[in-house]
Amino acid sequence: MHRSLVLALVWLVMMAPVAAAQEQPITIKAQSAFDGRGRIVPNATLVVKNGKIVSLTSGGVTPATYDLRGLTLLPGLIDTHVHLDAHFGRDGRATSQGETPAQSILYEAENAYVTLMAGFTTVQSIGSPLDVEVRGAIARGVFPGPRLLTSIRPVNENTGTPDQIRAFVRTVKTAGADLIKLFASKSIREGGAQTMTDAQIQAACGEATALGLRSWVHAHSPTAMRAASLAGCTAIAHGSQATDDVLKLMAERGTYFEPNIGLVSQNYLENKARYLGIGNFDEEGFRYTEKGIPMKLEMFKRALKVSVLKLVMGTDAGAGAHGRNAEEIIYRVQIAGQRAADALAGATSLNAHALGMGDRIGSLATDMNADIIAVDGDPLKDITALRRVVFVMRDGRVYKNAGRRQP
Ligand SMILES: [Zn+2]
Repeated sequence: MHRSLVLALVWLVMMAPVAAAQEQPITIKAQSAFDGRGRIVPNATLVVKNGKIVSLTSGGVTPATYDLRGLTLLPGLIDTHVHLDAHFGRDGRATSQGETPAQSILYEAENAYVTLMAGFTTVQSIGSPLDVEVRGAIARGVFPGPRLLTSIRPVNENTGTPDQIRAFVRTVKTAGADLIKLFASKSIREGGAQTMTDAQIQAACGEATALGLRSWVHAHSPTAMRAASLAGCTAIAHGSQATDDVLKLMAERGTYFEPNIGLVSQNYLENKARYLGIGNFDEEGFRYTEKGIPMKLEMFKRALKVSVLKLVMGTDAGAGAHGRNAEEIIYRVQIAGQRAADALAGATSLNAHALGMGDRIGSLATDMNADIIAVDGDPLKDITALRRVVFVMRDGRVYKNAGRRQP
């Protein structure tokens, strides 16, 4: 290496901390803060510097950069299951047929934007090849969207033999996937029976684990859920037909459970005319969807009683549901009776752990990324406060502020 280049690098390394240390801290004051792990800090002062949280204390005399008194601070919300590419197209229908790639990616960008404005600073997309470019655009720090993880392409029963599945998993990793998605059962609109064999599930989750990737399994039937938990898959989504036995097995084995009870089915029914006639969205499918709502509610109430079961917050948001992700949390508290503090922890610190990012996001604590939102009201007393997100910061950068900025 050329000597002057070496000197320049040495200078950069020496100067970088000095330059960083000169950034002015940002101070946020609020009525209270919920730290994502269960602690409530009244009269909260949160200090942010260089995109990280420096401190969260009660009181404090520093004049605030952002005066959010009257509001409640929370960690940026996390949704472990969205379909960021899914949208209503130009004819108002839930299909992207006939679109150019440029049109499709702009719809996805719009979904990313409304999701961030709704207070979700990290989402896991399950998943589309379009996500890769949107993820990159957001990571460049200009385009406003949530931090995005994606599975790109899923594994299903037709992917092939266990060996072919392992090869496919390696290909998806090379393409930049953050996790592997499996379709291990049919859609709930088709009854939800197991589709992948146990050996196929073992191959997909085993290879993902060997490559250092997490695995997320779509499963409704208890046999598919059981096979996924035994195969060491990271998480099981949906689980509408879960038995107590399989829920206990998941708790014992530490398998994350992501039921979707409050938004996805309701959204399909609200937008029935826009979905009807596309794929398995036929009249029979809608009957299954309608029957599924009370079934999933009953299942969720049983899941709440299984101790140490890790209930993460994912919505399965598709066309019509983006930006309404918090409805899942509201439903879990208002209709299913989950404690607000548990539901909020599920959408923040627990979700961060489920994404393998528990040391960086999901809680308001020193050295965590400054992903911070403020809501109008106290969500621990009135969970619908989550519908009133007035401040959004991600990595120390403010993307939304309806509060007063002090001079
Ligand atoms: Zn999904």
